[in-house]
Amino acid sequence: MRSVTILGATGSIGQNTIDLIARSPGDYRVEALTGARNIARLAADAIGLGARLAVTSEPALYNDLKDLLSGSEVKAAAGPEAVAEAAARPADWVMSAIVGAAGLVPGIEVLRRGGTLALANKETLVTAGQLVMDLARRTGATVLPVDSEHSAIFQALTGEDLDAVERIVITASGGAFRDWPLERLAGATLAEASTHPNWDMGQRITIDSASMFNKGLELIETKEFFGISPDRIEVIIHPESLIHALVGFRDGALMAHVGPPDMRHAIGYALHWPERRDLPVERLDLARIGTLTFRAPEAARYPALAIARTVMEAGGLHGAAFNAAKECALDAFIAGRIGFLAMAGVVERTLDRMSAQDGLQNAAVDLDTVLETDLLARHRAAEVVTQFAAGDAVESGKGLRS
Ligand code: NAD
Ligand code: MG
Repeated sequence: MRSVTILGATGSIGQNTIDLIARSPGDYRVEALTGARNIARLAADAIGLGARLAVTSEPALYNDLKDLLSGSEVKAAAGPEAVAEAAARPADWVMSAIVGAAGLVPGIEVLRRGGTLALANKETLVTAGQLVMDLARRTGATVLPVDSEHSAIFQALTGEDLDAVERIVITASGGAFRDWPLERLAGATLAEASTHPNWDMGQRITIDSASMFNKGLELIETKEFFGISPDRIEVIIHPESLIHALVGFRDGALMAHVGPPDMRHAIGYALHWPERRDLPVERLDLARIGTLTFRAPEAARYPALAIARTVMEAGGLHGAAFNAAKECALDAFIAGRIGFLAMAGVVERTLDRMSAQDGLQNAAVDLDTVLETDLLARHRAAEVVTQFAAGDAVESGKGLRS
């Protein structure tokens, strides 16, 4: 029986992971589940799966969680440190499905003890890729990609020599606004940005798909995980979301990974790796699908891509600053403080300021420096958001790199 821990168990990836585990109760023992505000879900799943520990990242919810767990064997804990401690407890397999940079420290705890980390939290690699991969090599830990594109690349590379890779192509649905007239983007509402044409995901990644910040994060994730140089990584819009990524080899062959848009495939692949087992995902009927289409991403529609490419090329602390600025810009959009296009404006201006005032290193760094950079970028981004909200950046969509 394998022991498993799920960080971010109450979210979209966490719930899909629980779905797979709950289908074969005899195969798994659940060590810990963690969540944030949805303690009702957390407690119900922890009791249902017989977990040893349930942790909310919100200290103020400790007593409520304890009440919900009363009468069961499940222990309660609360706070970010308790989430990290849950990750540090021995378990054979840990799913990292927290959203945002909050996933970094718990993931590092798993790597420190040489564990197996199924990584949905792309922010771990965006903020501290080199550090994280070096740490895994030192401790003998295993990192398995769960982002659908990266799982697809990982699968296409099985048995291949990385030196034979000429390019990697990650696909993007194009998000909610791929067919909107450009003039409408500045006025896009939260509800409009929170719908995805193909995937059912958490709200933050859904909005990041509409802006393409998600694909920007994934460019960096690709570079960091596979150690591929930035000029060999491409993004293509593929509205059907059936091909998740392609790997091009030196002989001209392109290996594509094709499957339905269901995260249980990538989660299940990481859960059973290196074996393949039956998974409850739809089998594609290619004759019914008929056509797969592709188009180049437009720079004016998706300014986030050019920003991410600059960050990817710069390396070092730029990823941590980029991600933190993006999280703040997204918070401000969700709160109704800035418009949809202003998110890219906020991120770009924050990075410009930090390069000019704070100096962002391009070199490999330690965890403390990454966390300091994350904090500083949040402060800087908050100032920039205030300016944008006050209308200083008159037309928030203008002045971008594209
Ligand atoms: P979600 O918002 O649905 O769930 C996030 C989880 O993190 C929840 O359990 C929440 O309680 C927890 N959480 C939130 N803030 C926290 C904090 N400060 N500290 C600790 N826990 C916190 O998100 P999601 O869509 O499941 O995405 C999770 C991660 O997986 C993200 O990094 C996302 O980019 C990545 N990802 C998601 C999908 C998808 O299909 N949803 C696909 C690929 C990658
Ligand atoms: Mg993805």
